[in-house]
Amino acid sequence: MRELIIIGSGPAGYTAAIYAARANLRPLVIASSVEFGGELMKTTEVENFPGFPEGIMGPDLMTRMQQQAERFGAEILYDDVAALDLTGEVKRVTLGSGDVHEALAVIYATGSAYRKLGLPEESALSGYGVSWCATCDGAFFRKKTVAVIGGGDSALEEATFLTRFADTVYLVHRRDALRASAALQERAFADPKIQFIWNKEVARIYGDEKVTGIGLTDTVDGSETTLDLQGVFVAIGADPRTHLVHGQLDLIPEGTIAVDGRSSRTSRPGVFAAGDVVDPTYKQAATAAGSGVVAALDAEHYLASLPAELIARATGTDAVTDEIEARAREARESEARVAAPTA
Ligand code: NAP
Repeated sequence: MRELIIIGSGPAGYTAAIYAARANLRPLVIASSVEFGGELMKTTEVENFPGFPEGIMGPDLMTRMQQQAERFGAEILYDDVAALDLTGEVKRVTLGSGDVHEALAVIYATGSAYRKLGLPEESALSGYGVSWCATCDGAFFRKKTVAVIGGGDSALEEATFLTRFADTVYLVHRRDALRASAALQERAFADPKIQFIWNKEVARIYGDEKVTGIGLTDTVDGSETTLDLQGVFVAIGADPRTHLVHGQLDLIPEGTIAVDGRSSRTSRPGVFAAGDVVDPTYKQAATAAGSGVVAALDAEHYLASLPAELIARATGTDAVTDEIEARAREARESEARVAAPTA
């Protein structure tokens, strides 16, 4: 048994791991077998993460976070969580490999999953012209025509990135106004390779073995048109990945995990949540990182409040060590400082 398991390896999970490892909690991070590093692994240049004035490639940023967590003793497992039991004092995490890990506290930071259009052809043509990741698949569309679906930051970022390869990039949006930030809009409007198609929804994706075109329905007058193209990049947002905790943790109506006030405390003692799974609003890499800090500090305080004998069992020491005593004392003092009225 361990003190802390962190599920997820995006900015929230890795930042929680950095803080928890520095607090000597020796966290185990379950990073996922395929999607380790989270959504930023699929993005290009990140220009708004503090500390990188020239910008940094998403995968580089995540590799740095991972190295920083490992430097302080976080252990990272590249496997998926198959099942979770968060009910008792000891939480049980079952992995895809069948291995079971136990911990006194869990930080749940599994981020969000890309939304699908919901068309029957979408899954069949996934990998054959339909993609959710321009960074991964953009290079297959050199000198081709592609469409990006969506009107938010992701869609505009994908569209701009795809102009490196494709001759024409259609940006298909269901309204006539974008949701994306002004900076991304300005850049996309100035790009001669991007053509905006307003007020259109994708009704069909054509192609037997590979995408050959899309059918569009006008959201204002219902008229139908088609576009010949070879690639469709779906960028219509993402939903929090909460399926593993359904029935175990309370959710809010927006679908994210309910937490107590500004803390990361969920409806179960010893279970903390961070990043996109608790954030229906901001969903930025920097806010996710900040929420990882909150979760690590909350987990640290929770662990310090547990009986020292239990911690000794989790850390594999037979006796209550000086370190455990010191950590508990520190947490009590820090709680007292927070609770103390300011002058
Ligand atoms: P988003 O902001 O939720 O935008 C999703 C877009 O897809 C919206 O324009 C929406 O249309 C459209 N859409 C949703 N469902 C649709 C459907 N079924 N069919 C057609 N269109 C549909 O998602 P996002 O762009 O992925 O961004 C998510 C969060 O990450 C945001 O907070 C964003 O700021 C952040 N982000 C930031 C950056 C950056 O700062 N560089 C980059 C990427 C993402 P409506 O507008 O009509 O609702």
